[in-house]
Amino acid sequence: MDNKTIKRNILLNPGPATTTDTVKYAQVVPDICPREKEFADLMKRIRDDLVRIVHGDSQKYTSVLFCGSGTLCMDACLNSLLPAGKKILVVNNGAYSARAVEICESYHLPFLDLRFPMDALPDLAEVEAMLRRHPDIALVYATHNETGTGILNPIREIGALAHKYHAVFVVDTTSTYAMRPIQIEEENIDFCMASAQKGLMAMTGISFVVGNRKLLEESGNFPKRSYYCNLYMQYEYFEKHGEMHFTPPVQTVYAMKQAIKEYFDEGESAKWDRHKRVFEALHAGLARLGFQNLIRREWQAGLVITVKYPEDENWDFEKIHDYCYERGFTIYPGKMNNAGTFRLCALGALDENDIVSFFRVLEEGLRENKVTVPVIYGGGTNHAE
Ligand SMILES: *Cc1c(COP(=O)(O)O)cnc(C)c1O
Repeated sequence: MDNKTIKRNILLNPGPATTTDTVKYAQVVPDICPREKEFADLMKRIRDDLVRIVHGDSQKYTSVLFCGSGTLCMDACLNSLLPAGKKILVVNNGAYSARAVEICESYHLPFLDLRFPMDALPDLAEVEAMLRRHPDIALVYATHNETGTGILNPIREIGALAHKYHAVFVVDTTSTYAMRPIQIEEENIDFCMASAQKGLMAMTGISFVVGNRKLLEESGNFPKRSYYCNLYMQYEYFEKHGEMHFTPPVQTVYAMKQAIKEYFDEGESAKWDRHKRVFEALHAGLARLGFQNLIRREWQAGLVITVKYPEDENWDFEKIHDYCYERGFTIYPGKMNNAGTFRLCALGALDENDIVSFFRVLEEGLRENKVTVPVIYGGGTNHAE
């Protein structure tokens, strides 16, 4: 096969991310039945590596994989880790925590939706007040990087509060895992999760939970609210048989194996430095074209930028998107209820020079569509540097 036949697209959307060709080609393997020992050995190594990536002690922490996208793990954690008669507290300051609320509603789980503005950090005093007022909260849920806006939530602090009030702390790290370094135990995380197509730069179709083994084993006695997506049942099957309960996405697992190898070859800090370089290059390009950030720079997780639409009658996101897309660059709409925004993300196998190329195309696209450059705004808050 000729690697050069695969066109390289620069994905600036919040996942799936741009992958290397070596990861793409790793999917092309001889057919194998996943019930073979060879496949179980592969799964075992991957499970250990997933714990290692967040610096978990392999005795205390374990990982469970599922065939599905990242939301499946949000679903699995919420439906599986709540004892009977207890409540979930969702720290909600964005679209992904709002999704967790919808999951709780779908299962009719008792929960408290502690809402904060989408463009701000959660107030820890309010989190603590809720925990004090509701001693039946057994699970606190928060999102690490709120991908809808790019805000980095204070996980360690929320986790410390959860533990102070004897609740389990579940964090959605889907858009930080294998990018922003995470120390699972030090950051007070009992369970975190991600999907293979984001930080790991592997293929879509696998997602996983990394969590505290003892707590996971205790959850075996909790009510079973899902059959396919029960965390304990999947864990138990892995422990007994070394594999997923049901058919895994075989070829996708091989791509993940290669992506994990590339993750460790690049190294945690070098990889995070690269994402930071891409993020800085995005900010520099946006500032040069006059674009404004919606979220304060010091609150951003370093991976997602929410950009305000210019106030120009010729601005049309779809047209700019299409112009960039036709030239190999994908930009993505925002997830704010009432503000016109789009997002640019620093995920994937990219580096600074890709971002420089992107801004050449974006600027051309703006001029082609008669949008004034630098872009104009009528007023309002300006968080551009
Ligand atoms: C991407 C993402 C998810 C999962 O989304 P899927 O479309 O199901 O893969 C969940 N949480 C966060 C914070 C994310 O960024």
